[in-house]
Amino acid sequence: MSGQLVINLIYILSAGLFIYGLKMLTSPATARQGNRLSAIGMLIAIVVTLFDQNIVDFTWIIVGLVVGSAIGSIAARRVEMTSMPELVALFNGFGGLASVTVACAALFGSEVSTGLAATIILSILIGSVTFTGSLVAYGKLSETIPSKAVLFAGQRVVNGAILLSIIVAAVIFSLNPDTTSGSNAFWVVIGLSFLLGIMVVIPIGGADMPVVISLLNSYSGLAACAAGFVLNNNLLIVAGSLVGASGMILTNIMCKAMNRSLGNVLFSGFGAVTQQADAIEGEVKPVVAADAYLILEAASSVAIVPGYGMAVAQAQHAVQELAEQLEENGCEVRFAVHPVAGRMPGHMNVLLAEANVPYDQLVEMDDINPQMGGIDVAIVIGANDVVNPAALDQESSPIYGMPIIHVHEAGTVIVLKRSMATGFAGLDNALFYGDNTRMLFGDAKESVMGMVAEFKG
Ligand code: NDP
Repeated sequence: MSGQLVINLIYILSAGLFIYGLKMLTSPATARQGNRLSAIGMLIAIVVTLFDQNIVDFTWIIVGLVVGSAIGSIAARRVEMTSMPELVALFNGFGGLASVTVACAALFGSEVSTGLAATIILSILIGSVTFTGSLVAYGKLSETIPSKAVLFAGQRVVNGAILLSIIVAAVIFSLNPDTTSGSNAFWVVIGLSFLLGIMVVIPIGGADMPVVISLLNSYSGLAACAAGFVLNNNLLIVAGSLVGASGMILTNIMCKAMNRSLGNVLFSGFGAVTQQADAIEGEVKPVVAADAYLILEAASSVAIVPGYGMAVAQAQHAVQELAEQLEENGCEVRFAVHPVAGRMPGHMNVLLAEANVPYDQLVEMDDINPQMGGIDVAIVIGANDVVNPAALDQESSPIYGMPIIHVHEAGTVIVLKRSMATGFAGLDNALFYGDNTRMLFGDAKESVMGMVAEFKG
């Protein structure tokens, strides 16, 4: 068997591990194992590739591996769960930058055909847009730059002109890669692609950044795929395509869960203008933990609906303890998880898994909603937009049409939050004024611990 054949067979094994690992990520029960399998696949791929490329000197590769692994593992360990989307944005951006540098390196040392030049320029275009776009997304999420959508007259014309200039320069480079005009055009493509990444993300508000990050994640895969064509590396093409396709599917799922099109997310400037909500009638009825306990103590079925506030308060362990107390009291407890609760896909599932909430207690929105009318108490823990009934009945609302968890249909709703402040979408919530709603104000963890203490007597 030739060496190349062996390498390609090992690449197929790695690709198989990636695909099987991805499949396992679809269930919380197998997700960790899936992650591990994909990581093993990547390790095998890296080792084989290093031996395949007849590398003369491993020194810089080892330095890069050590420094990169150290930074990556420290960043991943230190990051707060609430800052995870920012970290993902940064990782995406550097993935894009890596594809740019690989494509640049391919220019040196070998004759560049028009076909190769076209793949190089594609990798550079997508990688550069991903890099600067991700940096802007990081800045908006971490609020190191203003998170509001930045809109100005003629914005789309300016962006269109930048894209057109990139295409013209890319064609000039691809047709004459070895000439001075080709070389100038190459630098124009890099510069304008960096600029385009900034320009396409600034008009998008902070509220939509998680979707943008998912989309940029997909782009970083496409950039890696293009780099795979540049290097003639089959596995990079496969891995890049997998990232590109899965990122696109995730983006689509997030848009659907918000009942918005991708076009609306990218171009509507959502959040730039504060929308006037319809006046809300009713009054707020605050309770303390002891009152909430009395309501819960009498309940035979409870739905717990977590949201971003649970992540901020790091209340998941206390919430699990409350669920145990309720069950000991003979109550049926279910966790109703909205697909876009929190700030990243699966955010609530990750936190609940960390607190060892049994998987069979997690119920998806579409399954719990038809049963909500028969549930005695819904406890809303730091969720706001995902339980806002304006999405159902207020046509003028920016979130009109977004699927929500119908907690307002439960017998009693206990809402845990610190104030009457709005959620991510910046909208008032009529749920908080409902006849059957009681507001338990305070940090979610402290409020839950207060109720647990009451149960324990
Ligand atoms: P929201 O952002 O709507 O609301 C969170 C609520 O938590 C706030 O009203 C806040 O109120 C409360 N809160 C914050 N800190 C605490 C604390 N320490 N203790 C108690 N309460 C606290 O969150 P949801 O999860 O309901 O909705 C998610 C939003 O994010 C949606 O608009 C969704 O579209 C958007 N989004 C999510 C994505 C995802 O992938 N998950 C992707 C894209 C967008 P207060 O300050 O009064 O305490």
